[in-house]
Amino acid sequence: MPDNPLVKETILILGGTREAAELARDLVENQPAARVISSLAGRTREPAPLAGEIRTGGFGGIEGLVRYLRETGVTRLIDATHPFARQISANAVEAAKIAGVPLDIRTRKPWPKQPGDAWIEVETLEQARDAIPPRARVLLALGSQHIGVFASRADVHFVVRMIDKPEQPLALPDHTLVLGRPGDTAAAETMLLIAHSITHIVCRNSGGTAAYAKIEAARQLGLPVIMVGRS
Ligand code: NAP
Repeated sequence: MPDNPLVKETILILGGTREAAELARDLVENQPAARVISSLAGRTREPAPLAGEIRTGGFGGIEGLVRYLRETGVTRLIDATHPFARQISANAVEAAKIAGVPLDIRTRKPWPKQPGDAWIEVETLEQARDAIPPRARVLLALGSQHIGVFASRADVHFVVRMIDKPEQPLALPDHTLVLGRPGDTAAAETMLLIAHSITHIVCRNSGGTAAYAKIEAARQLGLPVIMVGRS
C-alpha cells in the first residue's frame, strides 16, 4: 500500500502515447487522492510535458516491473502504450499477475477501413517493402528502428518524418528527412503529401486519433496506403 496515508491509490500508466498523456491529465484532475505516475521508455529526447509524476527507462523485464510495482506500492496498472509496443504489454500482463495488481488495458483498436480508402493490406514490413511499386515516392510513416527494412529499395524516394533528428544517417539510399510531429489535421497532412509529390504511404495500423490525419488525407487525395496490420 502507498506510504502516504493521504494517497488512496497509486496508478502507474505505461505510456508513450497521446492517449496515455490524456489519461494522466484526466486522472490528475479528477482523482486528487491518487498518485499518478507515467512511465516512458525514454525513446523521445524531449517528450511533451505530462501531468503527474514521470519515470523514464525500461524496468528490466517482468521481474523489474514486478519489483517496481511492489516497491512503489502501485495499486492499479494501466497499459496505454502503443499497440505495436508488444513486449512491454506482454510484460505488464505477467507482472500484474505476479504482483497481484489489477491491469487495465487501454491500447488502441486498429483503424477500420473506410469507403474511399485505397489500402494495400499486408502483414509485415517486408511485405510492405515488396508492395511498393517501382520508382514510387513514399511517405514512410514508421519509427526509425523499422526503416532499415526499406534500404534495398534504391529505386524509391522515401520521405521520412521523425520527431528527433536521428543520431546516424538513415540507411535509405534516396530520402528526404522531415523533422516534426505528425500533422493534426488532414489539411496539414495533405499539404505535406502534395509538397513531396507522394504517391504512396507506408504505415502500421496503429489506431487512435494522433496518426489518423494522414490516412484521411490519403483518402481525400485517392493515394494508396500500404497498411501493415497487427499479426
Ligand atoms: P516494446 O518493444 O514493447 O518494449 C521494449 C522494452 O522497452 C520493454 O521491454 C521495456 O523495457 C521498455 N519499455 C517500453 N515501453 C516502456 C514504457 N512505457 N515504460 C518503461 N519501459 C518501457 O516497446 P517499443 O515498441 O520499443 O515502444 C517503446 C515506447 O514507445 C512505448 O512506451 C510505446 O508506447 C511508445 N511508442 C511506441 C511506438 C511503436 O511504434 N512501437 C509508437 C509510438 C510510441 P524493460 O523490459 O527493461 O522494462
